[in-house]
Amino acid sequence: MEYKKLVDLYEKLFSTSKRLEKTYHIAKFLKNELERENSEVLSIIFLMLRGRIFPDWDDTNLGFAAKMAIKSITSSSGLSQSQIESWWKELGDLGLVAEKAMSKKKQSTLFTNSISLQDVYSNLKKLSEQEGQGSNDRKVKLVNQLLTSASPKEAKYIIRIVLEDMRVGIGDSTLRDSIFYSIFAGSFDYDFKQNILNYSSSQLSKSSSNDSFRSEIIVSLQDAYDIANDWSIVFDHAKNGISDLEKIKLTIGKPLKVMLFPKAVDFEDAFERLGKPCAFEFKYDGFRMQIHKDGNDVTIFTRRLDTVTEQFPEIQELVNKNIKADTCILDAEAVGIGKDGRYRPFQDISQRIKRKHDIDKLVKELPIELNIFDILYLDGKTMIKESYAKRREALTNIITTKKMRINISEQIITEDISTAKRFFDKALEVGNEGLMAKKLDAPYKPGARVGYGMKIKGMKESLDLVIIKAEYGEGKRAGWLTSFTVACMDEDGVLLEIGKVSTGLKEKDEEGTSFNILTQLLIPLIISESGKEVTVKPRIIIEIGYEELQRSQTYSSGYALRFPRFLNLREDRSVDEITTIDYLDKLYLEQK
Ligand code: AMP
Repeated sequence: MEYKKLVDLYEKLFSTSKRLEKTYHIAKFLKNELERENSEVLSIIFLMLRGRIFPDWDDTNLGFAAKMAIKSITSSSGLSQSQIESWWKELGDLGLVAEKAMSKKKQSTLFTNSISLQDVYSNLKKLSEQEGQGSNDRKVKLVNQLLTSASPKEAKYIIRIVLEDMRVGIGDSTLRDSIFYSIFAGSFDYDFKQNILNYSSSQLSKSSSNDSFRSEIIVSLQDAYDIANDWSIVFDHAKNGISDLEKIKLTIGKPLKVMLFPKAVDFEDAFERLGKPCAFEFKYDGFRMQIHKDGNDVTIFTRRLDTVTEQFPEIQELVNKNIKADTCILDAEAVGIGKDGRYRPFQDISQRIKRKHDIDKLVKELPIELNIFDILYLDGKTMIKESYAKRREALTNIITTKKMRINISEQIITEDISTAKRFFDKALEVGNEGLMAKKLDAPYKPGARVGYGMKIKGMKESLDLVIIKAEYGEGKRAGWLTSFTVACMDEDGVLLEIGKVSTGLKEKDEEGTSFNILTQLLIPLIISESGKEVTVKPRIIIEIGYEELQRSQTYSSGYALRFPRFLNLREDRSVDEITTIDYLDKLYLEQK
């Protein structure tokens, strides 16, 4: 397929902020390409639509910095580096700079080649594979190859995708609905006045209305995605008819998104949402592990679905010795534990996720206890549709618990508020963050914050926000980034600013997360600079405390924080897990 076709689609998607309009454009595009392209091309389309070449669960980076993009644009346009840099200052977006530079070049050469989607994909893939000496130069060359034959518009998106800065804002629900319209609606159109997609379906059965037909299929598509974790696989099966989706099976070794939990205001709220009785469990303050056991092979994924198996040899051993199953997928929390049996906060053991050397030493110095709280797959059977009560029972049957090493999450089942409150006090006493309340008859819903479980925390609320801009300090702090603009997210993954943070970081590295440490993490992520301010790729998540949430016109989220302060670096979190605007709306109401 010509890359140009995807670029035309990007242009349409960027021209609107309306979700339904985006859905319409993607659905039209898929419908046209559906007959023409093979599965391989379709899978590239689904990935690149969202501005990445790897699926969500694969955290591989391209490692292409702004400075390298400048080199590429300079050499492929034949313009001077100072010209490119000055446009960068003026436009603040290297994608736009590439577009401008290539259009200047095109005026002087009449020659154009077309590039294919596969060319772009294969060069980007090679980018991620470059390692060691000279790798940056090789990466620049790979991008040059693309830019040299690209049109100005193509160049814009090539630069944005290599910088991993597409920000196209397409959520799962948009892709799911687009698939629905492209396959199951015989004809459909966008009605600009009513803001809806009118459609008719050739497959509509006599007994059902458009609405119920649509919602039935949407549920099937979503269920299939929960298992496949990849929209191109869902699309590929759906093409053959809705019943083909049932052929999609969970695969050991390929991670599923983890289920997320909203916050309960209090115990009454939890009972109201989850029913009576419900389960209450310790909310361990550690890190989440999705553990896949295949015979004696154990693979461990973080909640961001990065593989961390090698960092945790003791967990591999514990699972192999104490879980009676040939194959299974477990959901668990690994928490630091002191000699006195009290739990330690996440920050104390966070280095265990990243450190790849001296692992045996760390295993001894920072011991962890594995608390398993769910099971998604057991000996050939997918468990996610089973009730929580059934899953817990299955878990109890296969685990041999060992004190301070491997446990099933501590739980009570009650309908009585004072019993739940006593359990909450006990949880805090031994060093937990609070409780998780869980609905006994609910299935497991990957990736969704559906409210089949709710967290009840002891501390004052904090937010997980992503840094999108930062500013250099002055005087003693010159050379460090010292003020950080943070953002939350809307349902389509669009980042919305909520304020600036500059307190809570340390002056010296020995004291904890310092200005210097955060600066070093952010520098490779810089995508543009303007005076003292830099814009960075949205990768670094920080936990922020504050006194009050206020309405504000200053920031795009419509909110501002009074007295925000840095609490922790959350290297275990990914951008799609940051605080959502819906949640802020709820907090704001609660606060009132
Ligand atoms: P939060 O990180 O505040 O959004 O709370 C949700 C997280 O709590 C989950 O992602 C788990 O990592 C963690 N957690 C700790 N204990 C449990 C438990 N018993 N059940 C589920 N999640 C738990």
